[in-house]
Amino acid sequence: MNKPQILFVEDDTAVGNLIATTLETQDYQFHRAKNGQQAILDALSFRPDVMLLDLGLPDMDGIEIIKKIRSWSNMPIIVVSARADDWDKVTALDAGADDYLTKPFSVDELLARLRVALRRVRYDSQKTSEASARYQNGGLVIDYAAGCAWRDGEELHLTPIEYKLLCLLAKNTGKVLTHNYIISEIWGGSADNAASELPSLRVFMATLRKKLETDQSHPQYIQTHIGVGYRMIQHNRDSAVSPEA
Ligand code: CA
Repeated sequence: MNKPQILFVEDDTAVGNLIATTLETQDYQFHRAKNGQQAILDALSFRPDVMLLDLGLPDMDGIEIIKKIRSWSNMPIIVVSARADDWDKVTALDAGADDYLTKPFSVDELLARLRVALRRVRYDSQKTSEASARYQNGGLVIDYAAGCAWRDGEELHLTPIEYKLLCLLAKNTGKVLTHNYIISEIWGGSADNAASELPSLRVFMATLRKKLETDQSHPQYIQTHIGVGYRMIQHNRDSAVSPEA
C-alpha cells in the first residue's frame, strides 16, 4: 500500500487539530471534513482507506453517515465519539462501523486502532487476490475447505457451533462484532431473539476460548468488548507461526 489515506470527520476545532497533528506525525495523507455532507462527498471523491468519524455533527448524525457509506463501501470506519454508552457503541457497530474510540482518547490509542484498521485493508486486498481457502493469523490456521482449525500446529477439536463462531470472527478480523450480529449470523432469526440467545453465545464463546487460548486471562485471539461484543485480534504477518500439521 502507498501512503495510507485517512478521512476524518470532526466538527470540533481543537479535537480536529489534535487528530490532524497526530496524522501528520505518522506521515499519513488525510482529508478533513467538518460536517456530514462534506464527509460523504470526500468519501466518494477522495476514496480513503480508513475513515475516523465523530457522531455528533452539525448537519447529520454520524450513524446516518455510516449507513450511507456502507451502501457502497467496505472501508474501515472508526467512530471517535463522546457517546460512551454501550447502546451507542452497539448502534454504531451494528450500522457498520468497525471500531469505536471514546473521547477523550489518547493519541497512542488512536494510532493503534488506525493500524488495526489499515491491516484489515491490507488483509482484505490480499484475501481477494489469493482465492483464500486458508486463514492464517499468528499461530491460528483455519482450512475452510477441510473445516479444520489449528493453533500452533495443534488441531482444535471444536463443536460445529464453536467452529462457526471462530470462522465468523476470523472472516471479520480486526472488527468488533456485536452480540446481535453474531447471534443473527450463527442462529439466524431477528434481532428480537438476540437477547434470549445471549447466554448461549456466552457459553459457546467460553468453550471456544478454552480450546483456543493458552492463557484465559490474557487472550491472544478473541478480545471481549464488555456489553458490546467480540473481536478477533489481528496479528502481524511477520509474527505468524507455521503449523506443523
Ligand atoms: Ca462533534
